[in-house]
Amino acid sequence: MVLEAPRSPLREVELPRPELEQGQVRLRVQACGVCRTDLHIRDGEIAEPKLPLVLGHQIVGTVIEGGETFGRGTRVGVPWLGWTCGECRYCRSGQENLCDRARFTGYHLDGGYAEEAVADERFCFAVPENYPDAQAAPLLCAGLIGYRSLGFAGDAARIGLYGFGASAHIVAQIARSQGRRVFAFTRAGDDAAQSLARELGAEWAGDSEASPPEELDAAIIFAPVGALVPAALHAVRKGGTVICAGIHMSDIPSFPYELLWGERSVRSVANLTRRDGQELLRLAPTIPVRIEVETFPLAEAEQALGRLRAGEIRGAAVLSVALSARLLP
Ligand SMILES: [Zn+2]
Ligand SMILES: [Zn+2]
Repeated sequence: MVLEAPRSPLREVELPRPELEQGQVRLRVQACGVCRTDLHIRDGEIAEPKLPLVLGHQIVGTVIEGGETFGRGTRVGVPWLGWTCGECRYCRSGQENLCDRARFTGYHLDGGYAEEAVADERFCFAVPENYPDAQAAPLLCAGLIGYRSLGFAGDAARIGLYGFGASAHIVAQIARSQGRRVFAFTRAGDDAAQSLARELGAEWAGDSEASPPEELDAAIIFAPVGALVPAALHAVRKGGTVICAGIHMSDIPSFPYELLWGERSVRSVANLTRRDGQELLRLAPTIPVRIEVETFPLAEAEQALGRLRAGEIRGAAVLSVALSARLLP
């Protein structure tokens, strides 16, 4: 399913098989998660993707050719971080997520909205066995970004999650397993998301404009809505942190300095390191994190993105690729 130009629907296209380069693996895609970033790229909100482009950076696939690390038939996961230079100041200081020349899957590199994908094996992960393909896929970005964001909340005991979609539903479970208390904020009247939040251990769930029953120690904003920054600052205590986890956000409205005063801080979280991936994929099955998915056949990728845009997905949207491939004539 190919994006030929921003703001145009994905099209089903037959692409030539790319030649494998040294260190690359060819995968038969089993499932690919649908991330809000895919939607931002599709909608032209993130500048200059490779075009035409195969979206998708939460790929669970089986190695069918190439590489040395994984045997043929091994199930691997491919995340957003697709390649780094290994030489820049960020790569050399454990911050490869900030690499000046990083290449991202489903943005600079063709991704997983496809029957096959090619990836640099150094950036692929082993996928925990306990997770079926569709449930494993959202761990690769929703889970990873959420996990990295939670790290920046330090030892915050009371965590607010703004936007209860794919990422938050995973983070809530990790946070609960660490003994933290979770407060979930959703679009006004989104009963489905609020009830999922309570089911997964949130002690309070309400509308994003509402005040939580007590002040928060940290807040993570997953929704791409800049107005949530002052709202979250208002909800956190002195010294608390507001973490913006998304790659794109509408403009943040101006707000009185008083909201930031008291050593509150606002920060963003960008991309992932391979270490984040290894840690999360080790941790998830031990909790165990439960992944709620809504699956779509590959050919319905555009519909999946539409449902995500409308806020109609409970948990994470995933393309079940192997299944749709079997159904092809
Ligand atoms: Zn993503
Ligand atoms: Zn670099």
